[in-house]
Amino acid sequence: RARAYAKLRDEPSVTANGVPFELHLNAGLLIELTRLEETGAHGIGLFRTEFQFMVADTLPRLAKQAELYKSVMDSAGSKPVVFRTLDLGGDKVTPFAPSMREPNPALGWRAIRMGLDRPGLLRYQLRALIQAAEGRPLSILFPMIATPWEFKAAKDMLMREVAFARGRGHPVPERVEAGIMLETPGMAWAIEHALPHADFVSVGANDLMQYFFAADRQNSRVWERYDILSPAALQLLKTIREACSRHNVPVSICGEVASQPLEAAVMLALGYGKLSMAASGVAPVKAMLARTDTGQLGTWLAGNMSRDAASLRPLLIEAGNAAGL
Ligand code: PEP
Ligand code: MG
Repeated sequence: RARAYAKLRDEPSVTANGVPFELHLNAGLLIELTRLEETGAHGIGLFRTEFQFMVADTLPRLAKQAELYKSVMDSAGSKPVVFRTLDLGGDKVTPFAPSMREPNPALGWRAIRMGLDRPGLLRYQLRALIQAAEGRPLSILFPMIATPWEFKAAKDMLMREVAFARGRGHPVPERVEAGIMLETPGMAWAIEHALPHADFVSVGANDLMQYFFAADRQNSRVWERYDILSPAALQLLKTIREACSRHNVPVSICGEVASQPLEAAVMLALGYGKLSMAASGVAPVKAMLARTDTGQLGTWLAGNMSRDAASLRPLLIEAGNAAGL
């Protein structure tokens, strides 16, 4: 199987019915960039910048941050990288911020909330990213956006930093893109107001499902009860994808779900043509998608998505077996 997967690396990324797709990697460490070459992935769909902060005893200085971001871009070469701004709090803790001990950290002061309330932190990070990109495209993703105004405020800060760098005669990125990380159900219902301002959307399925089902992603006792392949969750994902299409905003999906072959096939069938996942998921997902007629699967989903079922998984497996997958 390992050899078969290695061969897949250079195969084109198209489904059995000829729909092209892109598989990207989630990463958080420089060393993981080597997996781009190994897997043949299109790029880094999610670079989690908080790791550098989580292993540090003190706040990493601007120059240290810029050095890491530059190395990441250098290693990726011509492949695109999406940098997510600091996503601290919740399940991501740092030794230097004891004030983050809260009764419900997942619902607490985390990610972009922290970035907007302590603008110095986010501003410095944006400055480091702008500095690192010099002359190259820069793609920034803001985590845990719960309302359109949070995204607009974050994007404004980014654009002000670009103008600031330009004004001082510093090198600036070739172009800058700002994306919404869609991880809260509330944002899904307000997305129409944010899309006119967004360059792309990335659905963070781990957190989106956690908040959708009110089930702690780290507590297997509760999260195993719920399935992203349930009609309710799939309806939500379909609604999001359709809104993005109406506004011509590219949308992708990241989170553990993207690295599961069956789930990935369903995401493709819902119209998510770009998936970002752990490196280990690339070959199995690519193999699955190459065998799947996502048009047929989409028709099957349309006919089954409003069923009264806890999950469509058993039916999907049955249908897949019948189709010889
Ligand atoms: C997510 O929430 O789906 C995601 C990809 O981000 P993280 O797992 O880092 O919270
Ligand atoms: Mg998340």
